Amino acid sequence: MGSSIKLFRIFGIDIGIHWSWFFIFVFVTWTFATGILADAYPQWGDAQRWSAGAVIAGVFFLSILAHELSHAIVSNRSGLPVSSITLFVFGGVSNLTREPDTAGLEFRIAIVGPLTSLALGGVFAAAWLALRNVNSGISDICGYLGFINASLAAFNMLPGFPLDGGRVFRSAVWARNHNRLRATRTAARAGEWIAYGIMAMGVAESVFVSTFSGIWFLLIGFFLKNAAASSYTQLVVETTLDGITVRDVMKTSFDAVAPDVSVEELVHDYVLRKNARCFAVIAAGDFAGLVTLTDVRKLPRETWATTSVYRAMTPVTRLHTVAPTDAITLVLRLMAEHDINQLPVVDRRELVGMLDRADVMRFIQLHRDLDERTGALPTTEPAPKT
Ligand SMILES: [Zn+2]
Repeated sequence: MGSSIKLFRIFGIDIGIHWSWFFIFVFVTWTFATGILADAYPQWGDAQRWSAGAVIAGVFFLSILAHELSHAIVSNRSGLPVSSITLFVFGGVSNLTREPDTAGLEFRIAIVGPLTSLALGGVFAAAWLALRNVNSGISDICGYLGFINASLAAFNMLPGFPLDGGRVFRSAVWARNHNRLRATRTAARAGEWIAYGIMAMGVAESVFVSTFSGIWFLLIGFFLKNAAASSYTQLVVETTLDGITVRDVMKTSFDAVAPDVSVEELVHDYVLRKNARCFAVIAAGDFAGLVTLTDVRKLPRETWATTSVYRAMTPVTRLHTVAPTDAITLVLRLMAEHDINQLPVVDRRELVGMLDRADVMRFIQLHRDLDERTGALPTTEPAPKT
């Protein structure tokens, strides 16, 4: 998770906070200080209202932390270690090292969060009752916190992935159809519909009641919509590419040229005739480098006849290369990081293939289509060579 700040470490788990939380903190404080508390306690001064608002926002933060920690603790005990938690807009994201292997485990990890929020809601409700005749201000604040925790439990139990309720829903579908990817698709679609519903409520709320509370719904809906779509896409990519190596996706045919060929010959006999723009330079069986039209264009036209491809090429030492046994997921990350679309696949010093980002995307698309049609997901079958 990018743009987050590490706060502290508890039970061996790094707790981080997403920058959006500062906005939420101010927004919750402001909502209570200028809205709810101002209406309920007009006799309170500004300092009192703002500090009470900040206390509520702080306890709200701790409530979400408790909710997330409960997920992490169950997960850790079940052998799925959680290394960090990032407190995100309206909840948290526990960084699971991997997805649960069974529907039952998924259910247990998901359900404990809302149960924790519900239990906290009960504790605050009890405190509200107990303090009602002692201090009405503190008792009411406990009441708000009880309501907030109960709302957190209810919101998180909405059956849309990646909310906890969506995970519970996914585990139920998964237990029935034994296909995690399809179960995720169903639950993620439910998540998107719920997000649209929440956004529609936000618009209605803004128009008929108050802009202020409408913004909350719009924000929640927007967050959920993005999370549902991206978590499904990510799972498709991860599931499809799990165990797939470069060898499974690479092209084994590529255009090669000898190092002593002149640039003039390269352009006339190779580029124009083969209609290709990128050639591997192979010197005595070893991969020496790549020569492309970009390399050729850097040379003045009159030097083409006297310059060898070897001098014009980008040498292998300045290229990123991958091995046929490298995991595709790692290679995709490398391509994204360096903005590369094509990588030479090198085994010892021999060029054995070329890997194109478009081929990897086609591979994912093909498996997704296959899965939608048959429900089967062959993850180890190599892509057809194009
Ligand atoms: Zn949760």
